[in-house]
Amino acid sequence: MANWSAMTNLTELLQHNLSEAFEFSTIELAHKQGSADTTEKFLWKLRDGQLVESVLIPASPSLYGDQSDRHTLCVSTQVGCAYGCKFCASGLDGFKRDLEPSEIIDQVLATERWHKEQDGANDRLINNLVIMGMGEPLANFDNLMTALEILNAGWGANIGARKITISTSGLAPEIRRLAHQPRQYRLAISLHGATDEVRNRIMPLNKKYPLAELTAAAEEYQQAKNGKITLEYVLIAHVNDALDQTKPLADLAKRLRAKVNLIPYNHVDGLEWTRPDETTQDAFLLALIAHGTKVTLRREKGHDIDAACGQLRLRTEKELAGIAD
Ligand code: SF4
Repeated sequence: MANWSAMTNLTELLQHNLSEAFEFSTIELAHKQGSADTTEKFLWKLRDGQLVESVLIPASPSLYGDQSDRHTLCVSTQVGCAYGCKFCASGLDGFKRDLEPSEIIDQVLATERWHKEQDGANDRLINNLVIMGMGEPLANFDNLMTALEILNAGWGANIGARKITISTSGLAPEIRRLAHQPRQYRLAISLHGATDEVRNRIMPLNKKYPLAELTAAAEEYQQAKNGKITLEYVLIAHVNDALDQTKPLADLAKRLRAKVNLIPYNHVDGLEWTRPDETTQDAFLLALIAHGTKVTLRREKGHDIDAACGQLRLRTEKELAGIAD
């Protein structure tokens, strides 16, 4: 249902009055890419013409390595990003604005509508959310919490808090705030380096909140929520894939009782970074296992559809500007 006139149990007058007073949806589909491995990427156009992305990731293997019928939607929280991680497409154009709660929620609702239109299905599609798309989620803390409250509520989208994973690149104060709100959301930390030296090189935010501070905040979260933490680690050739990173990474994971998720880097047009070869990836994985770390290596779905956050938006904006390569 995408407009008030579909509510046929209401009078036409009421439908008209509702449409005058309330917007039904804040986003429209601008572009969609499907992947050979059935990952689907959606580019949404917002009311002010800005573009954001969501990615629908089918089950098996899931982010946590278990098998299930779950469909996960990766949701954006900002247009662009202010944090300028060196390997990331989302930050290339800088920060534009925060998303409103309705724009975060509408990524879920519009994807569900797309699913129904495709398959004529009446069942719900999305049963997991990862707040990991464009933007730094915890930099839009209040709007995100409002959106998640509605997505979590029984009267809303009814997605369980433990099925919602919030990602952060390391905003330590907001991790502490998250620890003291009432819901049991899962936390994923985009770590990408196990020493300050490596993180400083690729994540400017680490200079403000170095690993010691980030770890203390994450520990507070873990203790308050007794929750699962995932350490996301994008493997970038000759940047963070040396084996000397594995021991500090294993120590960090042990301290936070966290799982490590290794993700080989997806190339971003215009950036110099590349993914390590599979031998290097496997050696990194095996070294972590030898240190006793719970770890998965995600041969990432969506590699063929620009699924690294921000890439579809960047490419589309270039095309609109007539400067696509
Ligand atoms: S990795 Fe996340 S925090 Fe860093 S620039 Fe990209 S979107 Fe922003």
